Amino acid sequence: MDKENLIKKLKQHGYIKTKKVEQALLAVPRELFVPSNLKNYAYVDTPLEIGDGQTISAPHMVAIMCEALELKDGQKVLEVGAGSGYHAAVVAKIVGDKGHVYSVERIPFLAENAKTNLKKAGVKNVTIAVGDGSLGLPEYAPYDRIYVTCAAPDIPPPLKEQLEEDGVILIPVGGTMCDLIKGVKKNGVLKTRNLGGCAFVPLIGKYGHR
Ligand code: SAM
Repeated sequence: MDKENLIKKLKQHGYIKTKKVEQALLAVPRELFVPSNLKNYAYVDTPLEIGDGQTISAPHMVAIMCEALELKDGQKVLEVGAGSGYHAAVVAKIVGDKGHVYSVERIPFLAENAKTNLKKAGVKNVTIAVGDGSLGLPEYAPYDRIYVTCAAPDIPPPLKEQLEEDGVILIPVGGTMCDLIKGVKKNGVLKTRNLGGCAFVPLIGKYGHR
């Protein structure tokens, strides 16, 4: 399958709802973010191994999360779990040159690969940090949007604190089989709802699985 056909399918299934998400998915070359032996699968709608048991998320999950985040031009976004850097690159396209994505990855070699991939793809508005993303990234807080690409037992308190008023957080909660939870911060309190079941690798860290 090629990129255009994959995106057509994602639209038909209702995963892509807006022009900005469609354009961002069209603009980012997923083949630059997958290991060289898997390039033929870059436009198959499936997660792919990127090393150490970790995966680049399936394109439909990236589309679902980008839509649910209600991203806007110029926003400051925190991603927990950079993996290959692909999802961050798509979000960075949506928030544009005045926006920025800060992404924390706990595995150093994946963080290095993500930096290399983003450079190859010409994406400049993403900063990758190595660390435990369950603690957030306080130095750049607060964030307009926070999303987590691995499953946590519950929403880590530092992420709630680092979310801006009226900000949106998206996080898979549970074990490998989990629920995608969306929270909106109103008057300092997070109002959450369940967007449905999903499957993610675990968040490992202080407020994660151990
Ligand atoms: N967004 C990625 C992409 O586009 O390739 C996919 C991420 S993968 C599904 C989840 C990532 O979360 C893995 O790379 C894993 O190492 C990372 N991770 C797990 N626990 C973490 C933590 N506490 N802090 C930061 N990253 C973490």
